[in-house]
Amino acid sequence: MTQPSGSCLCGAVAFAIEGEFKDFFLCHCSHCRKGSGSAHAANLFAPNARLRWLRGADSVANFQLPGTRHVRAFCRHCGSALPNEALAEGLVMVPAGCLDTPLTLRPSAHIFTASRAGWDSALEQVPAVPGSPAMPGNQAG
Ligand SMILES: [Zn+2]
Ligand SMILES: [Zn+2]
Repeated sequence: MTQPSGSCLCGAVAFAIEGEFKDFFLCHCSHCRKGSGSAHAANLFAPNARLRWLRGADSVANFQLPGTRHVRAFCRHCGSALPNEALAEGLVMVPAGCLDTPLTLRPSAHIFTASRAGWDSALEQVPAVPGSPAMPGNQAG
């Protein structure tokens, strides 16, 4: 089995995870919506695991929302979400989108759905466009 590894958008930071993912939560809480800028975060959890920075450890910043356990690690240069070990000893949380290795695990659950954004419903019914949509500023074709 391939060791899970990933990197940020600009490439400054790369990491590997020594351990296995047990849970995969799509979190719709207001903190994750703000932090991700999207409908939900997609976080993998590996208990009894180790996070190893392959490069750019000094480019990783952490933000903990005061008074909460909400922590977000990100690249100082490009802002990409990155893994952190802040929740509990040996528990590594990995944003699924920053992985470069294939992931076979399917999401375990949508969580904090009581905090869903108003527009976040029946999204599978929204038209799907394989590439860039037709809108001002886009190349024709
Ligand atoms: Zn980066
Ligand atoms: Zn959340």
